[in-house]
Amino acid sequence: MSDDASFREQLAYLVERSPFYREKLAGHDTSGGLDSIARLPLTEKRELKATCTPDNPFGSHLCVERDELARVYSTSGTTGTPSYIPLTAADVENWVTGSARSYSASGIGPGDVVVTTYNAGPFVAGAALDAFARIGVTHVPVGTGSSERLLLAIEQLRPDAIVLTPSYAAYLLELAPLRDSSVRRVLVAGEPGGGEAAFRAKLEDGWGARVTEAMGIGDVGPSLWGECEQQEGMHLGAHGFVHAELIDPETGAARAWEDGATGELVLTHLRHRAAPLLRFRTRDQVRVWASPCACGRTTPRVRCLGRTDDMLIVRGVNVYPSAVREVVGAFAPAVSGNILVKPRAAGVKQEPPLPVAVELAREADADPDLAAAIRGRLREVLVVQTQVELVPFGSLQRSEYKSKLVSR
Ligand SMILES: [Zn+2]
Repeated sequence: MSDDASFREQLAYLVERSPFYREKLAGHDTSGGLDSIARLPLTEKRELKATCTPDNPFGSHLCVERDELARVYSTSGTTGTPSYIPLTAADVENWVTGSARSYSASGIGPGDVVVTTYNAGPFVAGAALDAFARIGVTHVPVGTGSSERLLLAIEQLRPDAIVLTPSYAAYLLELAPLRDSSVRRVLVAGEPGGGEAAFRAKLEDGWGARVTEAMGIGDVGPSLWGECEQQEGMHLGAHGFVHAELIDPETGAARAWEDGATGELVLTHLRHRAAPLLRFRTRDQVRVWASPCACGRTTPRVRCLGRTDDMLIVRGVNVYPSAVREVVGAFAPAVSGNILVKPRAAGVKQEPPLPVAVELAREADADPDLAAAIRGRLREVLVVQTQVELVPFGSLQRSEYKSKLVSR
């Protein structure tokens, strides 16, 4: 079925079965297809949360009876209490299909040994684990919790690929020399970073491996996007299940999906059953590609530039902590690549200079010229005045999962 036909059916399904969308779409013309989707309202996470009640902890966008639910995940609840993500058996199946496409784009396939570090816990990332069985690799789930056990698995089982967050991939390089390990593909996901040129170069050099990234969003699906070996953005692995759009994050106005365009990523389910979402704001800031990739895939591509939730505005200029890390990372080997932005004021708006702690490389001394050079480069690239504090190696927190780039 074409995406347009799927969308029309999904929209009719929402109007029929979702109390949330029946109310939201009242007064809107729902007769159009994908080419007129921008006429329909956007969905915010907090709107969904606001409809949760003790009787319906899923929210009023739930479209099925409870006994039709096959699985319930939770989101990590960085902005408060967890949200529940209900799925029917068909929804789970589609998630696994999309994730398998995303991860196989990286080049892994039957015969490969793949170590994963996601925990099969309450979060949707756990659903991506099923994708590795679907791809047909030899799956070695190690989870997080013990870097020693992970390094031992790499040494003894000689995996071809490893799946982890970019932060953890960087941290492991501090614990062990991995350049000559068996790992030839490092698949990163869970946070922005894998697509930042300097950070990727550091990981590729340290691991002696090709680094590709994947990305999902809890409410819509895990690993919706996966990068191919061309490393020119992540392909929509969940094509046919999810439609992607770009909007202006300030006004919500639709932006054309064309090569080089940037904006906030908005996603719409096309064939979801339990709690489909229409024009869901992901808070991910992305750059997109529309043209076919050299790998032969014609699906849309994105690269994540940062999360709106992490964004700061310094005298009118949007600053993403992940972009600060990318600029600072280019000063390797003088720096470790770890940074921490320390806003002085509560909220998004900050007065310059913005304090940034930059961690030095192992055994490097704090050199005032280095701090000045980093400050100059940040001003040049990101148009932001900073106050750079060089801190000793090891003083910023390491993570087996997502790293914290902002501290208040
Ligand atoms: Zn490609």
